[in-house]
Amino acid sequence: MEVLVKDIIEQGQQCLKQCGVADWKTDSMLLAEYFLGVTKKELLLKPDITVNSGQKEGYMEAVRRRCSHIPLQHITGIQEFMGLEFEVNENVLIPRQDTELLVELVLAFLKKSPKENRVLDLCTGSGCIAVAIDKLCENAKVTAGDISEKALETAVRNNRKHDASVTFVHSDLFERITGTYDVIVSNPPYIKTDEIKGLMPEVKNHDPILALDGDADGLEFYRKISERAPDYLKPEGALFYEIGFDQGKAVREILAQNGFSKIEIHKDLAGNDRIVFAKLERK
Ligand code: GLN
Repeated sequence: MEVLVKDIIEQGQQCLKQCGVADWKTDSMLLAEYFLGVTKKELLLKPDITVNSGQKEGYMEAVRRRCSHIPLQHITGIQEFMGLEFEVNENVLIPRQDTELLVELVLAFLKKSPKENRVLDLCTGSGCIAVAIDKLCENAKVTAGDISEKALETAVRNNRKHDASVTFVHSDLFERITGTYDVIVSNPPYIKTDEIKGLMPEVKNHDPILALDGDADGLEFYRKISERAPDYLKPEGALFYEIGFDQGKAVREILAQNGFSKIEIHKDLAGNDRIVFAKLERK
């Protein structure tokens, strides 16, 4: 039996709205694209488009899963980041749009020097930062580390999916990292332990805690990385962090204590402090 797509989407929207899914409208359409193979544009051009009842059931099952606050990206298994599609699952943080600014700033820095640049990405998770830099910068040679073997398995698949050539290292921060780098970049866990319980269910129940928890004050990883980074940075090298909206001042202090100067803080699209850039003061 054929069913009108617009009716199915309408039904999906009602369910998602009732369950308190914030982006119910967008999500109903994204699930339709994925499970019914119909884009918003097609639907606008052909409002009488139909699918069979099996497809409808697949869509409604996905809607039910989304209603239980499973993130959309875990239902589809993908998230777009820097124009590239990444596999995601419960072992990796879903790439966020804010993190694109981190990659954009690293790319702009790398573009200034035409030589081969060595880049180190710590806490790589899905590998989205490392793979995006590898694909979007011709002169970058990227190494990426993570403490989670499961995350690294996903990162390796993402590297393969994009035919990128990132080298992955199973490492607790710098533990197994060797050599020196032109850029060290990291989006480490930075949520205060106590604040995790107040996050959206999609985040606190489905993103790995390991990727969120920045210890009591949320700053533990900035302390650990900033302390050791000088040993792994080339003289003109730079460190780039993603930070929480209220961590700019504290992270600046941590960096200054560890010999960094020329510290810049960049704001995200919402006007919040989001990215920190720092270089070492060389005498
Ligand atoms: N930006 C993420 C969030 O808001 C946190 C990511 C992180 O801790 N690095 O949930």
